[in-house]
Amino acid sequence: MGLNVIVMGPPGAGKGTQAVRLASERGLPKISTGDILREAIRETSAVALGAKARMERGELVDDAAMIAIVAERLAKPDAGNGFVLDGFPRTVAQAQALDELIEQRGSGPLIVLDVAVPEHELVRRLASRRICSVCGANADPSSSATVCQKCGGQLAQRTDDDQGVVLERLRVYQRSTRPVLEYYRGRSAFRVVNGAQSPDQVAADLNAMVDDAAAARR
Ligand code: AMP
Repeated sequence: MGLNVIVMGPPGAGKGTQAVRLASERGLPKISTGDILREAIRETSAVALGAKARMERGELVDDAAMIAIVAERLAKPDAGNGFVLDGFPRTVAQAQALDELIEQRGSGPLIVLDVAVPEHELVRRLASRRICSVCGANADPSSSATVCQKCGGQLAQRTDDDQGVVLERLRVYQRSTRPVLEYYRGRSAFRVVNGAQSPDQVAADLNAMVDDAAAARR
């Protein structure tokens, strides 16, 4: 049976970093809707046209577009045995659509992991976050390097990590994405991890939670 995992959490919680680690340990694709959108913008593809301005303002891209992106991505062969989703679902409508997709696939229930971090810590982290302007990888926050360790590209602040936009993204998170946690909270495969710990500790906790949740649903 496939392992279908969602990593939830506010902007700056470290969910992208943790999703990469979890996906590589489990041999599953990490599917980040933010990365898919940023790549579409770099390639100026059609989907990017409407998304760019909304992303720069810290707003959400509309549900229909996001659901279509995820449905297409989950249909690719590498997601046949499961996936680690990062940044989706962000609204209850997206969560409902994902439940339908999973049911159609017949690939077992979702494991939902929430990375919880206090808001003052999120603002501090987002102010110093850098990503590669070429490959989009997250830079190591503890390093002062100016180029990407993976591809040598120039590191830059994300345009939506600008302070005013960060506050809007946190507001959008509270308004639209927190209700998604309530949508999932009653499920047996819902787990909350303390995201204020070291990245290694968060990763270890998440791994244990995935094993525990996968065993519980059998
Ligand atoms: P992220 O990299 O996950 O922080 O996403 C960056 C931006 O992409 C968000 O602030 C939204 O504008 C957009 N975005 C990513 N995923 C979604 C989604 N599931 N629904 C709506 N907008 C999204």
